[in-house]
Amino acid sequence: MPDYDDQNIFARILRGEIPNDTVAESDHTLAFNDIIPQAPLHVLVIPKGAYVDYADFHANASDAEIADFHRVAADICADHGVTDTGFRTISNAGEHGVQEVPHFHLHILAGRPLGRMLA
Ligand code: C5P
Repeated sequence: MPDYDDQNIFARILRGEIPNDTVAESDHTLAFNDIIPQAPLHVLVIPKGAYVDYADFHANASDAEIADFHRVAADICADHGVTDTGFRTISNAGEHGVQEVPHFHLHILAGRPLGRMLA
């Protein structure tokens, strides 16, 4: 697990150094629209704490942070009415997962047929 890089772009968003298009915010979690959306709804959900990736977050965050994170993500799906039509959540991790920004994030994609992702 690499050390957390506090200059990564999401860390800078959390510090208010870079603007974002906020969708939801709670004590431990921020969600904002992806700057290059891949679907009509493309939201990134990130913890406010400094976690590199999925494994780091679930190993080291508190139960309160983890519950808050998943509550925010689920509420976004419900609030945008995509629980009936369908949606996809993705968390890329590491080199093989092609994670570009080294701060844990969950993509929520919805609003069009997304096709099969797994061959
Ligand atoms: O999972 P991965 O790390 O590859 O995704 C990073 C995502 O962050 C990309 O979808 C990119 O468009 C998004 N991004 C953003 N705002 C930024 C920089 C990156 O929404 N300022």
